Amino acid sequence: MSGKRDYYEVLEISKEATDSEIKRAFRSLARRYHPDKNPDDSEAETKFKQVQEAYAVLSNPDERKKYDMFGHEQPGGSPFGPGGFQGVNISIDDLFGGGIESIFSQIFSGGGPRRRSRGTDLLVNHEIPFQTVFDGAEQSMEIDVLKICDECDGRGSPTPEGVRECPTCDGRGRIQRIEKAGFFTKQVVTDCSTCRGEGRIVSDPCEACGGEGRLTKPKQVKFTVPAGVSSGTRLRMRGHGEAPRGGRGENGDLYIQIEVIEHPWFERDGSDLLMALPLGFVELALGTQVIIPHLDGEDLRIKIPAGSNPGDTFNLPGRGLPGGRRGRGSVTVLLKLDMPKKISRSLRKSLDSLKEEIGTDFDSLEDSITDEAQRRRRGR
Ligand SMILES: [Zn+2]
Ligand SMILES: [Zn+2]
Repeated sequence: MSGKRDYYEVLEISKEATDSEIKRAFRSLARRYHPDKNPDDSEAETKFKQVQEAYAVLSNPDERKKYDMFGHEQPGGSPFGPGGFQGVNISIDDLFGGGIESIFSQIFSGGGPRRRSRGTDLLVNHEIPFQTVFDGAEQSMEIDVLKICDECDGRGSPTPEGVRECPTCDGRGRIQRIEKAGFFTKQVVTDCSTCRGEGRIVSDPCEACGGEGRLTKPKQVKFTVPAGVSSGTRLRMRGHGEAPRGGRGENGDLYIQIEVIEHPWFERDGSDLLMALPLGFVELALGTQVIIPHLDGEDLRIKIPAGSNPGDTFNLPGRGLPGGRRGRGSVTVLLKLDMPKKISRSLRKSLDSLKEEIGTDFDSLEDSITDEAQRRRRGR
């Protein structure tokens, strides 16, 4: 068992800390324990390294997730490789300005033994009609993806002797060496030049795949679009990404990013739907009944009472989209006044003659404005 301290404890933050809280905690502690400030203080040096290690892991979303799951006892050993964390060379200036991100982001981008064990993840976009958000759907699509070559079973050669592990890098594809940089040691990772990062050397390449071990082929993918889905949602299809190099290991994942095609009149707010309903002056004044086809197959029936105003809203609970925390959302209908674009001579005449009768009920413009303001304040 390792007697290592919890990374969150080291950075003096909670398990729920946000990225910026993590960064702030790291900067502040790293400044406190930086060797420039604590010359010949081995305790500060140890703490400085601990803080760096904790930050390296917690500032990397993948590594943080793994740490939250397994703690220090990760399957496959330390994420920093067999040598453990080596420390990075950070000047005290880096801790005030920018610069630390690029240093830390390189730590896990290096090779290591896990490099060839997994194929690359893929991301594809997929458009769905608005109705599908309501119904959900089983869908399928064809993608072109790197698959294991059937001819050579992914080895890259028709014979087992035609391919061997690269002796320089032991099949890792990368060379790792430790460099001393003054006070610190740092880990430098480069592509292996013998195998050009492939990890293997093919002397008798397969004709079908040219030694790559993989071929791009069309593949049918079936997936379920859940009702209530929104644009930008990524559906993860485990194992449907690219095949791994060398035919060993697992496939990457396929992410299907959903784009919802806009509805001709509904706007969406989570599981609620909003729409504007333009009506003429006469319909607002006398009231009317409006029937609109709806996503759930049952028409929306809205009774507009006489004396309605533009800006009035009608809420139809339970008629919105599924997927909300309390079942279906609601439909909100906002009344608009639709004025005729063109007023004919005869209409002008009729309107003019009605002016006396249907003009405002107020004696003055100021009364009318005051009344409207009061109505708004009362929320009506
Ligand atoms: Zn190599
Ligand atoms: Zn092949």
